Amino acid sequence: MSRVYNFSAGPAVLPEQVLREAAEEMLDYKGCGMSVMEMSHRSRVFDDLIDETAADFRELLHIPDNYKVLFLQGGASLQFAMIPMNLMKNRVADYIVTGQWAKKAYQEAQKYGRANKIASSEDETFSYIPDCSDLPISPDADYVYICENNTIYGTKYKKLPNTKGKLLVSDVSSCFLSEPMDVTKYGIVYGGVQKNIGPAGMVISIVREDLITEDVLPGTPTMMQFKTHAENRSMYNTPNCYCIYICGKVFKWLKSMGGLEAMKERNEKKAALLYNFLDESQLFQGTVRREDRSLMNVPFVTGDKEMDAKFVAAAAEAGFVNLKGHRSVGGMRASIYNAMPIEGVEKLVEFMKDFEKENR
Ligand SMILES: *Cc1c(COP(=O)(O)O)cnc(C)c1O
Repeated sequence: MSRVYNFSAGPAVLPEQVLREAAEEMLDYKGCGMSVMEMSHRSRVFDDLIDETAADFRELLHIPDNYKVLFLQGGASLQFAMIPMNLMKNRVADYIVTGQWAKKAYQEAQKYGRANKIASSEDETFSYIPDCSDLPISPDADYVYICENNTIYGTKYKKLPNTKGKLLVSDVSSCFLSEPMDVTKYGIVYGGVQKNIGPAGMVISIVREDLITEDVLPGTPTMMQFKTHAENRSMYNTPNCYCIYICGKVFKWLKSMGGLEAMKERNEKKAALLYNFLDESQLFQGTVRREDRSLMNVPFVTGDKEMDAKFVAAAAEAGFVNLKGHRSVGGMRASIYNAMPIEGVEKLVEFMKDFEKENR
């Protein structure tokens, strides 16, 4: 067996220890004689599992009691609709468009009310985060929406926008649990787990309790009301049991690594290795404004499409896979999520140095 260094943006690398444990428990989870995939979500065993998973998640993020943690399906993309359906009481919301995912959320919200684009970085291919200190927030906005880490473009908000008292809603799919986060700054903060946490097929949404009401847009399906899931501990219907189980293992792994402070330090170290090299390199360049750089997704280019393709192919041959940039931007992108070991980034940088020597 040989594992590659997987720089995929998502679904993405998982901690090897988690995969090994899951493999060991595949045929017999804790003496049940069956895998977690095969058991009823109404069983005592699964009930304990989901409770423990939620508790570990709350502990990692220090989530206050007045927030609910929901394990939902439909991907982050379904939240693009679920959020306006549950929050747009005045049918007005403000969106800051810093990439494809923010744009999709903004476009989806237009179906339900007046979604205003109050800032954007599209003029420079989303390579920066706009100044959000004094935006034209709508007086009747139900919320202000951001995508905190832009997976495709590699930018991250280092400071949250000044929402002038309005509720902040944030998509943290690609930076979830990469560093500590002050949950009290948000009305809703959510992310698809397939980037930095677990397998595809689930979103974790952290929702402030007072926002979970029956007062939703007319016609909102039962399955799309936060209340439905909050009242049923995310088991109104059959949840993504196996995904919850793997996420639970990742939470234990994060705790064993020292929690989110320690992850932040580790992630900063990994990102610095790569960014420092890019800043020195004569062949490769980063594409993002320095102060807005993501710790998780690092896009870079050579400036020559053929050279980019040559690099991606040579890297894959050497065991560094999924380095091709998103189809909408080209070039390369290294996603260096929590589960990417430091040595993976060190070896990638060595490989890039060698490639540069040979191709200049
Ligand atoms: C991947 C991604 C999404 C979309 O996730 P799906 O689960 O495929 O719907 C949304 N937002 C961000 C920031 C992402 O990285």
